[in-house]
Amino acid sequence: MNNKLYGNLIFELSQEGRRGYSLPKNRFGNYEVPASMRRKEEAQLPECDEMTVVRHYTNLSANNFGVDNGFYPLGSCTMKYNPKINEEMAALPQFSALHPLQPAETTKGAEAVCAMLQKQLCALTGLHAFTLKPFAGAHGELTGLMVIKKYHESRGDMARRLVIVPDSAHGTNPASAAVCGLDIIEVKSLADGTVDVDALKELLAQHGPEIAAMMMTNPNTLGLFEKQIPAIEKLVHAAGGLMYYDGANLNPMLGAARPGDMGFDVMHINLHKTFSTPHGGGGPGAGPVGVRKGLEAFFPMVSPFHGNFAVEMRALTYILTLGRENVKLVGPLATLNANYIKECLKDVYELPIDGLCKHEFIFDGLKDKSTGVTTMDVAKRLLDYGYHAPTIYFPLLFHESLMIEPTENESKETIDGFIAVMRQIAEEAKTNPDEVKSAPHCTPIGRVDDVLAAKHPIVTWRQLVADK
Ligand SMILES: *Cc1c(COP(=O)(O)O)cnc(C)c1O
Repeated sequence: MNNKLYGNLIFELSQEGRRGYSLPKNRFGNYEVPASMRRKEEAQLPECDEMTVVRHYTNLSANNFGVDNGFYPLGSCTMKYNPKINEEMAALPQFSALHPLQPAETTKGAEAVCAMLQKQLCALTGLHAFTLKPFAGAHGELTGLMVIKKYHESRGDMARRLVIVPDSAHGTNPASAAVCGLDIIEVKSLADGTVDVDALKELLAQHGPEIAAMMMTNPNTLGLFEKQIPAIEKLVHAAGGLMYYDGANLNPMLGAARPGDMGFDVMHINLHKTFSTPHGGGGPGAGPVGVRKGLEAFFPMVSPFHGNFAVEMRALTYILTLGRENVKLVGPLATLNANYIKECLKDVYELPIDGLCKHEFIFDGLKDKSTGVTTMDVAKRLLDYGYHAPTIYFPLLFHESLMIEPTENESKETIDGFIAVMRQIAEEAKTNPDEVKSAPHCTPIGRVDDVLAAKHPIVTWRQLVADK
């Protein structure tokens, strides 16, 4: 890599008067932008030749780690491979060049895509109808809770303003309930990580007539199947509440079980997790919401048009290319891969919740705590070996959480390579802890000060220059 170019900002590469592009002739005649709308000073733009620009951005792109570069076992995020055919379909000009306001008779194909996807999602979840409008998982949660709130209000039952959320829930669950104007009560988990049904009974005895819904993630954020769902569902329904399924973890359920059959009334799906569309850095995503028959009348308008259409196109392509039989292998293979890694490493990493997991599991750091090597050190050392780090310090239930989710896509060779490196790091922690504690050594940037990075991010060139 060219170190002179590499790491510089495009502004620092700028040479006064250098040109890489000339503007095409104005096709609209000599229209003058009114003086009042023109800038008073020259725009501060970098001046570079084409080749400098190409090298700069090519080198920058090589700094990025994505699932196309290597193994990305980021627990809770389902960073699965986005097959290239998804991109081809989403890029078809017949879809990508559509304008949302063009006459309805010219957009029949896109509408058919939406209808096909809705039908597939119903079949895979056992629910009756889906809205494709929500832009993300959290947006789906909010949409689903709005459905539930409207449902209760439509029956004149205005007292139902409480949402039960397990203490293991993803942070977005209580946040969505709060944004929806509902109050949250937390239900505790048992030592095995699943919902404490006795604690739930107490909550329902105390607050029954105020319960709007219970939100459950299944498998939960610890990667565990909530075995008590049949009992929980009966209790909540008997109290008059509805059951909400946070389907962000639907991946291991594909082909194994359906939320609709388990008694859930409303759910969201993260197309960007379960159905392979690329995500990270905040988007783009899609969080379709499915409901039991009768509730579709309460779907709110949460976005204009049909949601993130290109994401929907990719998800539909993924489902159709897998086909009816192969889609049923997704859950079992994701589960097999996670359990295989867990069993191969649990003699050197601390496994706080033993037993069968679903698509992901958690280690509580290294088993040998005497080395002083933390989960952060392990995560940083993994970068030296070319692996994206697992999710670290989440969930908060353990001090040294290291959450691993391999997805169904990875080959046995890739997974074995990861296991070997994790074992190697555990060995280094004993024999050469300083090497691990000072990692990464092979990345363009070493350890960043993540407090400073969060509290005082430098996000523009001007800020960088001002700070210098
Ligand atoms: C990822 C995730 C969410 C939130 O989804 P976004 O698309 O990031 O808003 C909600 N719940 C669980 C369990 C998740 O893993």
